[in-house]
Amino acid sequence: MRTSIVLYCGMPRALTCISHYLNTDFFVFCSKMANFESKSKKKGTFPGSNMEQTLVILKPSTIRRFLVGDVLTRFQHKGLIISGIKMMQLDETILREHYAHLVDRPFFPDLVESMTATPVIVVCLKGKDAVAVVRAMTGSTNSRNAAPGTIRGDFGMSGQENIVHASDSPENAAVEIKRFFHPDEIFDYLPCALRLLYAPDEL
Ligand code: UDP
Ligand code: MG
Repeated sequence: MRTSIVLYCGMPRALTCISHYLNTDFFVFCSKMANFESKSKKKGTFPGSNMEQTLVILKPSTIRRFLVGDVLTRFQHKGLIISGIKMMQLDETILREHYAHLVDRPFFPDLVESMTATPVIVVCLKGKDAVAVVRAMTGSTNSRNAAPGTIRGDFGMSGQENIVHASDSPENAAVEIKRFFHPDEIFDYLPCALRLLYAPDEL
């Protein structure tokens, strides 16, 4: 069996010719992606331009329980693209803004203590309908009620220590991404596997 590696560098016709001779799915894929991208560019669109971005925060308890890899793996296996990721220490000021809807609740001081116990990892994920997809993967707020198969349902037992924050609407996602990332920390790339994740009419 012949195996070949190609570095995709925007040469659709050359790749089509090579794939004809070598007959590998990989060449066919690269050729189609290259054609697709050049057609989209001509139309003024680009594959992935209709994708959403959403914000996820891996909470301090997740970091302290060594669950970072497990949680990130779920998002990556789903096909969400990591557009930004960093570790940062939160403080009460940013949490008062981020959890403005909860500042008057009796548990708010405990929430601040929990969210500032160690640095968190903030992640910007990209994909079609990413906000709803990530919320569904996250599960109900109280981990004990969260469905098995969801992140909270599988990794948590608490209403407060519930593994991750996830934006709840595209509008809030836009505000939250700006809250935690500088524009130059968000990267606008597309993975080579894009055509394996979506059909052309979904992109
Ligand atoms: N929270 C809590 N007690 C409550 C409700 C919420 O400690 O009764 C915490 C919990 O960590 C939750 C966060 O506050 O994730 C934000 O609450 P929200 O209602 O926005 O839930 P989420 O969007 O995280 O599911
Ligand atoms: Mg919320």
